[in-house]
Amino acid sequence: KILVVGSANTDMVIRVEKFPAPGETLSGHNFLLNAGGKGANQAVAAARLGGKVAMMARLGNDLFGKQTIENFKKEGLNVEGVVLDNKLPSGVAQIVVDKSGENTIVVAGGSNLALNTRQVNKYYSLVQEAEVILLQLEVPMETVLYVAQKATGLGKKVILNPAPANKLSDKLYASIYAITPNETETKFLTGINITGEKSAQHAADFFHDKGVKVVIITLGAAGAFLSTPDYSGTIATSEVEAVDTTAAGDTFNGALATALSNKMDWEEAVAFANKAASLSVTKHGAQASVPFLKDLNV
Ligand code: ADP
Repeated sequence: KILVVGSANTDMVIRVEKFPAPGETLSGHNFLLNAGGKGANQAVAAARLGGKVAMMARLGNDLFGKQTIENFKKEGLNVEGVVLDNKLPSGVAQIVVDKSGENTIVVAGGSNLALNTRQVNKYYSLVQEAEVILLQLEVPMETVLYVAQKATGLGKKVILNPAPANKLSDKLYASIYAITPNETETKFLTGINITGEKSAQHAADFFHDKGVKVVIITLGAAGAFLSTPDYSGTIATSEVEAVDTTAAGDTFNGALATALSNKMDWEEAVAFANKAASLSVTKHGAQASVPFLKDLNV
């Protein structure tokens, strides 16, 4: 079983010819409403790829929150740990995309920012029941640290996807099993620019020195670099025609969790995650682009 403790957002997207200037009103193309948020995307990916997944999240008691919980159920997630907050609105992202594909995004975390340790304690059985716990950084750092420490104390495998990039404490490093930064997050956390395997290993060693056993640095079209106590190297992904890389990292992380809960070893799990993520970049959207197990031909 997998537990994702993390964010859920509703993405509101409008395409425009050019971005509005301050004070300007423009008319855009048709409005699109998409389910998003890193936690939700990763949970949906893990479930579509065959994982048994519980989601712990905090939504607003509003239209978006109700729609999100319905969506979770439709995706087969266990929603016991999903709470509707009566005070705060659901998390949203307002996204404007111009003709060249450039975007501007404003995220209002709303209820996600109230996913606190009390909620974790209330639904603690979900932590106890899971083998793999998947975390990101769109909910309070205090909650992330609390879940990581508790779960590691129970002998669970905790995977941290350190996105969006944020400073991590030594305590947090010491209480996660695996970390899955992309190249930008790796640069942010370690100061190291990934230019090849040597620099990737150098960055991985930074995390190992902090106590992280497994380091996976995702490398976009180049796949992912894996460093464990008994393996080090780049695992290639499939060559595909990329149209939209939104949620590639989320698909990768969800797939990784499913692979581990299915007892694959790390090399197999990274290959499985690459396969799933490469398929996601061939389609537009966040959750809309996440593949199902049957699409993988495995
Ligand atoms: P993020 O989306 O978080 O920035 P990456 O760009 O590293 O992270 O992508 C995550 C994973 O998605 C990669 O490890 C790879 O498996 C897959 N992926 C991303 N871009 C491509 C691409 N152009 N072709 C094939 N696979 C890709």
